Amino acid sequence: MLGVSQFPVFCCPQCKGSLNFTGEEYSCPRCDRKYPVVLGIPDFRVFPDSYISYEDDYKKARFLIEKAEANNLDFKGLVRLYWSITPEVPEDRAERFMKRTFALVAKGVENLKEIEAHSRKKDQTGFNAVLEIGCGTGGFLVAAKAQFKQVVGIDIAFRWLVIAKKRLDELNLNVPLVCACAEALPFEEETFDLIVAENVLEHVRDQEDMLKECRRLLDSNGVLFLTTPNRFGLTPEPHVRVWGVGFLPRKWMGRYVKLIKGIPYRHLRVLSFFEISKLLKHVSFQDYRILFPSLPQQELKNLSALENFQVAIYEALRKTSFIRSCLYIIGPSFHILCYANKHRDSGES
Ligand SMILES: [Zn+2]
Repeated sequence: MLGVSQFPVFCCPQCKGSLNFTGEEYSCPRCDRKYPVVLGIPDFRVFPDSYISYEDDYKKARFLIEKAEANNLDFKGLVRLYWSITPEVPEDRAERFMKRTFALVAKGVENLKEIEAHSRKKDQTGFNAVLEIGCGTGGFLVAAKAQFKQVVGIDIAFRWLVIAKKRLDELNLNVPLVCACAEALPFEEETFDLIVAENVLEHVRDQEDMLKECRRLLDSNGVLFLTTPNRFGLTPEPHVRVWGVGFLPRKWMGRYVKLIKGIPYRHLRVLSFFEISKLLKHVSFQDYRILFPSLPQQELKNLSALENFQVAIYEALRKTSFIRSCLYIIGPSFHILCYANKHRDSGES
């Protein structure tokens, strides 16, 4: 058991002090906070998931585990069960989520190829220690563990980590899973040389705090890979599939989505190219590169005729270097590589 907990080294997510471990909980002698281990997963959250209380999150996780054991469910069965007990998400959306979930390992492999092509690593040894923020059901973790020795996944949704654990256990992969907030991470500084956060930035409470934490955790040549939708993208807002949300002032967005589709638009802050650039510079990621991804075939299957037309325009633009820069403004999403370059910062000291 000790061998498993040697990597990563945990610290207090709030004061960053070192922790004591009793077997049931971590405690911080410096600030006197305690962090429980629940169902084998350490819970370092400093606030709960916006969508669910701590208690309901645990309850759902326990229910999933019990049902899985009683009915001998595999990973896919567990994902289906999850959506069947989540009636607030309509069936067609749940169906889309499931398709995406089952395709995540393949997508992870694609993303790793893209990251490695732009990693600026001089040697070809790849990364030593990889963290995924917002690992969800763990698809990327499976892809990463096939290539790299040390891989860790965190998510604010405790119930998802239970499902990720099932996926990893079925494949016999040893990947530590940790429940934590992206804004207050429980790891010592410079623990990782790659951090991946796919479609997380737009969901967090405090985008600046999340990026500062990523920078703290990266070693001097570390890379942060972010994907996030574009506020001014010409395709519909991906979370609610409503067109034009991003062009409104933020305080009107909720009312507009409610009016068009009758669903809430909460806990989301989708950024434009200008907003992302400003934010990255503000948190000292001076060196970053924004890429325009080709659209994954998997996600193109369920689009309407209008959406397909927009996709065709995007693909045409992406290949034309002359108008490529337009995509900074209107492309559907961004893939961003941020380079820590810490040796340069500390050069004078
Ligand atoms: Zn503390």
